Amino acid sequence: MACAIYPGSFDPVTKGHIDIIRRAAKMFDVLTVAVLNNSEKTPLFSVDERVNMLREVCKEIPNVKVDAFSGLTADYSKQQGTDVIIRGLRAITDFEYELQMAQTNRKILPSVDTVFLTTSLEYAYLSSSIVREVAAYGGDIHEFVPSYVAQKVYAKLETKKHGQSGRTYQ
Ligand code: ADP
Repeated sequence: MACAIYPGSFDPVTKGHIDIIRRAAKMFDVLTVAVLNNSEKTPLFSVDERVNMLREVCKEIPNVKVDAFSGLTADYSKQQGTDVIIRGLRAITDFEYELQMAQTNRKILPSVDTVFLTTSLEYAYLSSSIVREVAAYGGDIHEFVPSYVAQKVYAKLETKKHGQSGRTYQ
């Protein structure tokens, strides 16, 4: 069976991510979308919330699983028994970091290969941080994320506003 993992923060999942997920799912028997629990970032959504959102928006793609992991992507890939890591490329600005990560992962786990899918042009500008920023200023994010996710983003920002005013997210 050909399996791949698609790791990322997905804070929150966008239509750009979903486009990559759909296309990668056609290439592999099983695609595991893996939410990285990164202790260095202060996310808007918890790992569980991000996993649940991904499960909801991917529920119609039968060969997609959603999971969470911490630590090195190469270790997680080995643990999952897959040698393919999927990443999306939007612009040249993504390239340097992605190349460095792909080479690092191959150094750590020589059997692992990173497969890059280039973004569909309509989503080339789109990132989770853009979604968070537009929503934080009251803008409409329905172009960027499924409406299920949009509702979660607005609800979360509302909760945060009342709970912890003045906090910024990266
Ligand atoms: P990370 O923090 O690991 O970069 P992200 O959730 O921001 O996590 O992105 C996960 C992957 O999806 C990365 O490879 C990123 O380049 C890719 N990606 C993000 N947004 C898009 C998009 N609009 N089109 C294509 N790929 C994207």
